[in-house]
Amino acid sequence: SDESKGEKTYKIASDTTFAPFEFENKDGKRVGIDLELLKAIADEEGFKYEIDAVGFDAAMASVENGQSDGMIAGMSITDERKEKYDFSDSYYTSKVCFATEKGSDIDSLEDLKGKDVVAKVGTVGASYAEKMAKKYDFSVKQVESSAMMYQEVTSGNAVACFEDYPVMNYEIKENGQPLEVPFISDEGSEYGFAVLKGENGELIDMFNSGLKKIKENGEYQKIIDKYAKEN
Ligand code: GLN
Repeated sequence: SDESKGEKTYKIASDTTFAPFEFENKDGKRVGIDLELLKAIADEEGFKYEIDAVGFDAAMASVENGQSDGMIAGMSITDERKEKYDFSDSYYTSKVCFATEKGSDIDSLEDLKGKDVVAKVGTVGASYAEKMAKKYDFSVKQVESSAMMYQEVTSGNAVACFEDYPVMNYEIKENGQPLEVPFISDEGSEYGFAVLKGENGELIDMFNSGLKKIKENGEYQKIIDKYAKEN
């Protein structure tokens, strides 16, 4: 009801390191496109929420077991996930890529043959990597966070990591990760805010309504531009 709308504080799960969508800045503050979009939308729609940055796979589990009411984590809207979650309208378009150490001679999926790569548990990057691993004969290790994934590559434990391109690009350009992106897949994906299927439908309605408003009043573009300025 409208009465409870003002009282309830929604619990929204998110990822830990997934810049520029959510990350900890130099002052130790959690910032990013997802967090700013959600704040602008909640201000427009008048709902309260708190963010729980638990990691991507953990966020999905937390929504699934009812610990969180929703999640925003650069989450791709896929047919498979639609069986478990309801999604908002898309707020960003992305693609999977792989990154290698700077100067590496690995340039293509073919070059990964017989090598170890790394991906983040539960992501479309991980399922894409697993699918390509069969075809191109390489092996995929899965880790919990993007930060761990980048480290696996910079430390030489893996020759490549599979990540969403806007995120990989930001890490390289803004955070100085000594990596490069030789390959971007053609498979695009749309990011959406998610709730458990059939639950918290009002959150999806408010997210969509607020998203429309902040697109109209320019706030959406301001947030995107703020994080994309150097790219
Ligand atoms: N967009 C990717 C997915 O939904 C990755 C999300 C993330 O790592 N936070 O699987």
